[in-house]
Amino acid sequence: MGLTDIKSMFKQELAKNLTYAGYQAYRAEQIYLWLVKGANSFEEMQNIPKDLRKYLSKNYYIANAKIERVFISKDGTKKYLFKLSDGEFIESVLMKYNYGYTVCISTQVGCKMGCKFCATGMSGFDRNLTASEMLSQIQAIQADNSIRISNIVLMGMGEPLDNYENVVRFLKLVSAEDNLNVGMRHISLSTCGIIDKIYDLAKENFQLTLSVSLHAPNDLIRNSLMSINKKFKIEELLKACRIYIEKTNRRISFEYAMISDVNDSIECAQELAKKLYGMLCHVNLIPTNSIDFDGFYYKKSNRFKIEKFVEILSKYKINATVRRTLGADINASCGQLRKNIKKEGGHHANIC
Ligand code: SAH
Ligand code: SF4
Repeated sequence: MGLTDIKSMFKQELAKNLTYAGYQAYRAEQIYLWLVKGANSFEEMQNIPKDLRKYLSKNYYIANAKIERVFISKDGTKKYLFKLSDGEFIESVLMKYNYGYTVCISTQVGCKMGCKFCATGMSGFDRNLTASEMLSQIQAIQADNSIRISNIVLMGMGEPLDNYENVVRFLKLVSAEDNLNVGMRHISLSTCGIIDKIYDLAKENFQLTLSVSLHAPNDLIRNSLMSINKKFKIEELLKACRIYIEKTNRRISFEYAMISDVNDSIECAQELAKKLYGMLCHVNLIPTNSIDFDGFYYKKSNRFKIEKFVEILSKYKINATVRRTLGADINASCGQLRKNIKKEGGHHANIC
C-alpha cells in the first residue's frame, strides 16, 4: 500500500489515525506543529519518540516543493519555479503590496482548458496538485524570504475548479487557525467558469473572493478564446455568478484580458456593461501579456482603448480597474517557464 500524504490531513484526521494505531492523540498536535513549520522529514521531529517517527515514515510521506529557480523582477516580484517529488515543474509568484505579501499559487501541473491566450493552457495537462503541494508552495516562499504571506490567489497554473476536492481541502487547511491561518477574506480563487463547480462552491459558503475569467462580452468572441465556453455559455455562467453572489453575499471579480482588436472595442464595452448591469461585481481589466502560439498572435490593447473601456463601464455604474502589471520583465504570468522546460526536456530555459 502506498504512503499517506500527511500534510493534506486535518489535525483531527491524523489524531484519529494515530489513536487507532495505539499512539496518544496529543502526538498529532506535536506532529502537526512540525508540518505547519515546514518540516521536510520525520527525523527532524525531535520531541517525537523514535518508534513513532519510524511508524510515521513507514506509513506517511511529507510533500514538498523544491525551489528550482527564482526570477527577480525590478519591482521586487519574484517568480518561483518549483520541482515536485515526481520531477514535475510548477510556478508560483510572490508580489509585495503595501498591505502585505501576496502569493499566486498553482493548482495543477498544466491545465486541460486550452485557452488560446494562455501559456499554461498551451502546454497541456499532466496532473492535479494535492492540497499539500499547494501548501508547500506557500511554505517554501515564506521560508525563502523569512516573511509571512497574508494573501493568496489561486491564479497560477491550472484550473482550480477542475481539481475541486483538493482545492477545497487546501482552502480549509490554509485558513485553519492551527495551520497557516490565512483568512478566507484574504484568498481569491480564479476560474474559467466551470459552472457546476461554481454551484458547489457556493454551497461551501466560503468568504473568499471568486474571480471569473470572462474575457469576452458574448459567446462568439468567448468561443474563439476559451473552449470552456463551448460547454458553458455566457448566459449560464452569469446566472451561476448571480446565484453565487446571492448565496455568499460576496462580490465577484470578473477578469477581462484586454486583447487588441479582439475584445477591446467600444461595442464590446457596452455589451459587457449591459450584461453585468446591476450585479454585485468588479471588473478587473488586464493588459494581456502578448502571446504568440501556433499561428495565433495576441497583442495587448493600447492605453487609450483600456481607458475608454473603463469609462464606458463606469457610465453603467460598473466598478472597473486596470490591473497593475507586476513582474512584467520576468514574464510573471504563469506557464511560460514550465512550457520552456518541457520543450528542453527538463533543462533550464533562460527566459529572462
Ligand atoms: N484557470 C484559472 C486560473 C489560472 S489563470 C482561470 O483561468 O481563471 C489566471 C488568470 O490569468 C486568468 O484570468 C487568465 O485568464 C489570465 N491569463 C492567462 N493568460 C494570460 C495572458 N496571456 N494575459 C493576461 N491574462 C492571462
Ligand atoms: Fe487554464 Fe486558466 Fe490558462 Fe485557461 S486561462 S488555460 S483555464 S490556466
